[in-house]
Amino acid sequence: MHVAIVEDEPKLASLLENYLVKEGYTTSVYGDGAIALESLKGNEPDLILLDLMLPGADGLSICRELRKTSDVPIIMITARVEEIDRLLGLEIGADDYICKPYSPREVVARVKTVLRRFTRSNTAKIDSRFVLNETTASATIDGQETTLTAVELQLLKVMSDKPGQIFGRAQLMGRIYPDGRVVSDRTIDSHIKKLRQKLSAVNDAVDCIHSVYGIGYKFEFVEES
Ligand code: CA
Repeated sequence: MHVAIVEDEPKLASLLENYLVKEGYTTSVYGDGAIALESLKGNEPDLILLDLMLPGADGLSICRELRKTSDVPIIMITARVEEIDRLLGLEIGADDYICKPYSPREVVARVKTVLRRFTRSNTAKIDSRFVLNETTASATIDGQETTLTAVELQLLKVMSDKPGQIFGRAQLMGRIYPDGRVVSDRTIDSHIKKLRQKLSAVNDAVDCIHSVYGIGYKFEFVEES
């Protein structure tokens, strides 16, 4: 597995490189955004660690540009946690986000998770135990059904289409109210809360919707052990 590191701080880049190599990955490092984009377009790695602020071209435009032709897993790295919510709202198509300062161990763990998720979603689209039925506005877990409101159905559809991907509240609102209606963050939270109650009433040994602290929510079908 080959990981490209796009990071203009040489110390950080070599730190990540060391950790990844120790874990058996091969790496390439780019300190300039424009050069990285040029090279990555023609020669796709298995995953890209992409810093947001870069000379040449920033991480945002690199991600957008690559997404036009490729679904290579991208983990975006940013210096500020507030930036993540803005990035999520822009729907730039990154697979995960990491905030600086990070521990290299955490980065390696995320790389593994994203790669695992990517391989899995390419083989089996959705967990067969969870079925979302748009015609009847219902969700089924292990054959047990619960009915959903229009908003709940939309929320679940958006998130379960991309299992494991984190959605910010602003991003979810944009998908559910495309007319740009202004609703508060709490609106999303309360819909999610009800949705979780409904799903756990069907099967409380299964967790489908997970909160990601300070960022938003993700769908992942997890059986509690
Ligand atoms: Ca930087």
